Amino acid sequence: MPNKEKETTKNKVKALRGMTDILPEELNAWRYLETVTHGFFPHYGYKEIRLPLLEETRLFARSIGIDTEIVQKEMYTVEEKSSRSISLRPEATASVVRAFLEHNLYRINGVKKYYYLGPMFRRERPQAGRLRQFHQVGVELIGSGDLALLDADVIETAHNFLVELGIEKFEIQLNHLGCRVCRKVYIERLKEYFKRYFKALCPDCQRRFNTNPLRLLDCKKEGCRILIKKAPKVSDSLCGKCKHHFQEVQGFLSFLKIDFRLNPHLVRGLDYYTGIIFEIIHPELGTQNALGAGGRYDNLIEEFGGPALPATGFSFGLERIIAVLPKEKIPDLEETKITLVVLGKGNRVKALEIKQKLRKERYDIAVETDLQRSLKSILRQADKLGSKFVLILGDDEGAKESVQVKNMASGKQELVKIDRLAEYLGEKNV
Ligand code: AMP
Repeated sequence: MPNKEKETTKNKVKALRGMTDILPEELNAWRYLETVTHGFFPHYGYKEIRLPLLEETRLFARSIGIDTEIVQKEMYTVEEKSSRSISLRPEATASVVRAFLEHNLYRINGVKKYYYLGPMFRRERPQAGRLRQFHQVGVELIGSGDLALLDADVIETAHNFLVELGIEKFEIQLNHLGCRVCRKVYIERLKEYFKRYFKALCPDCQRRFNTNPLRLLDCKKEGCRILIKKAPKVSDSLCGKCKHHFQEVQGFLSFLKIDFRLNPHLVRGLDYYTGIIFEIIHPELGTQNALGAGGRYDNLIEEFGGPALPATGFSFGLERIIAVLPKEKIPDLEETKITLVVLGKGNRVKALEIKQKLRKERYDIAVETDLQRSLKSILRQADKLGSKFVLILGDDEGAKESVQVKNMASGKQELVKIDRLAEYLGEKNV
């Protein structure tokens, strides 16, 4: 045990950088988002799946990609005594795929649709909109079928989720990364292009050039961004099949009246993506402007030893969604709060009895006793909080097995029998 240190302002224990507390007053927005999530996704055919926060590190290294920023620098990893390495999950797709294979869920016929909600961990440099513990809600849709229709369906689902939450002004950006064959051709063209400017690339991009050239397109450094603008577009390298698929998806989205913008340089920070990818950005978010992102990952399940099943999905960052939620959409989930003012110490037991009775009969009423403050100060606070009623228990009321019920709006008081209290409040729409 370390020596006990006296806490000073300087060495006070604080939350870790990039990890935030969600305080009671912020929970209205979180509860609203969670309630919409659990209503919306099942309505679209998705079943909830809950997964562990810790997984073997190799699950993420093999799916997200050994050379991605996430796996290289951002995971919270612990080496266990057994020399096994485990990590806090930086995202959930890999875990969904692991669970899908571990429980043989592919044996059930048809397309499988899952949604999840929970915390993710990435040791990124914290800044506005970028945390080390953040939350995602996401979906995975696994199975073969008409893939263009499924792609349009997933994008429509993401779009409608935001609309359902009351979010406007977002933009869907769309790109197609090609299949195994045409992506290879594109990567060659990309390397040919960047080779000419190799010396002008940042050190990270010089490394990416050899290990993962597609990620060159994702660099945020000014010098690299200028080069990226003129880089070859993946759409010019797509094979006939991929081109057709891309056009079909665009046609379906236009039919559904879902606006999108083609972004030929859009790539994802995770290696497993193939085919259609998309990102949804919001202008009010600042530099970290992505609300969510997703796309196809048709090879991942097979790479993990499963059947050759195509898959697609997306995930949204909850903190970023909350940042753009229209305030008027967030309902006030505070329970009706009723204060029981107890005057005189002799009534303490009676107060306990009333509180217990009311809590039992009306689970939706939050009743608190106040024996400390004066009646005047309680009434003032009740008024401020918008409480409809205050209950007053003095010696006279106690003797009559009753309380005074003060209507805060009219200022009128009524003597009500304790036995009839719950019923009385119900009649008054509390
Ligand atoms: P990704 O898994 O990287 O595709 O991220 C999907 C979404 O999760 C992003 O669009 C963000 O909304 C959110 N997100 C990712 N990383 C962070 C982070 N470090 N802090 C807050 N939100 C994040």
